[in-house]
Amino acid sequence: MNLTAENHRIPLSDGNSIPLIGLGTYSDPKKTPKGACAESVKIAIDAGYRHIDGAFVYYNEHEVGQAIWEKIAEGKVKREEIFYCGKLWNTCHPPELVRPTLEKTLKILKLDYVDLYIIELPMAFKPGDAIYPRDENGKYLYHETNLCATWEAMEACKDAGLAKSIGVSNFNRRQLEMILNKPGLKHKPVSNQVECHPYFTQPKLLEFCRQHGIVIVGYSPLGTSRDEMWVNMSSPPLLKDPVLNAIGKKYNKTAAQVALRFSIQRGVVVIPKSFHSQRIRENFQIFDFSLTDKEMKEIEALNKNTRYVEMLILALSSPDYCAGTKALKCLGLQHLFSTNITDHR
Ligand code: NAP
Repeated sequence: MNLTAENHRIPLSDGNSIPLIGLGTYSDPKKTPKGACAESVKIAIDAGYRHIDGAFVYYNEHEVGQAIWEKIAEGKVKREEIFYCGKLWNTCHPPELVRPTLEKTLKILKLDYVDLYIIELPMAFKPGDAIYPRDENGKYLYHETNLCATWEAMEACKDAGLAKSIGVSNFNRRQLEMILNKPGLKHKPVSNQVECHPYFTQPKLLEFCRQHGIVIVGYSPLGTSRDEMWVNMSSPPLLKDPVLNAIGKKYNKTAAQVALRFSIQRGVVVIPKSFHSQRIRENFQIFDFSLTDKEMKEIEALNKNTRYVEMLILALSSPDYCAGTKALKCLGLQHLFSTNITDHR
């Protein structure tokens, strides 16, 4: 496959396509200055990015929309050249909430459609105004979810033209099979957004998804921002890895560029987040070199099969650590707290 900065889209199973690199936009709202997201999206579009990964729950979708519109107004891009991925949050799984939630996102973005809409997590919180609902003792309020019913509501959003494509995130093989084997399935998930990088290469899930025409979108492709609220800090920083740095030296590239190139050469879409102009541009400079088969194997061998993103906020910040895990066990979702949530049944 000849990937270039101008053309690096890969096909999706529904006939649409997705750019292999997108800008991630999650940044702790408490620590991020207002306008930083909008500025970064504009820098990214100028640098050549045509794919932006966002979510209602990142609290900055209005900035993403504003930046896209400014670039359209400038004549830099047309709407149809931009690929925006939005996400259905955990409090909005009941089928009757799916379309209104997407419509809310579209209103915030001031767009008529998103290019991809995905179920952010296979677990649900109690519906309501609170994004992280808790009871009077501070315990998270989980909610039973029927993923097949939620999926049917996602299908209706695609049929209504509000989402060009639909997919999932943080789904393991069992959950994907639940959707794929659903009687009367109308649209398959085109993608599954999961953590994926040289320390967590997800070989089994990648193979399963390949067999079913599902594209893997790899989040935290640089090893996360190492926020201790949701990151397993015992895993060493990816970008300090000696192998990635040694290979980078050979090509006059950074460890970040090597990690990103490794993923796209495996057909994994990457969505590195940066709100720093130089690093936004650096992360896009991955189309002017390629890794040899030997280097790909060396990097594959770095896999530790442990994830950075453990969503610890959902359990650790609860007064009762076991509450989260217990609730998830009741729902058969205890894998969310195991180290291999997406690679095993
Ligand atoms: P990431 O992209 O792996 O890493 C982001 C961190 O790396 C930031 O601290 C960033 O800092 C730094 N960075 C960026 N480019 C760099 C470079 N060239 N050299 C050194 N450091 C660099 O982590 P992520 O934010 O966890 O994941 C990316 C995106 O995936 C998110 O923003 C979000 O859109 C999505 N995501 C989705 C889920 C899900 O459940 N679906 C979960 C997690 C993430 P600066 O900003 O200062 O450059």
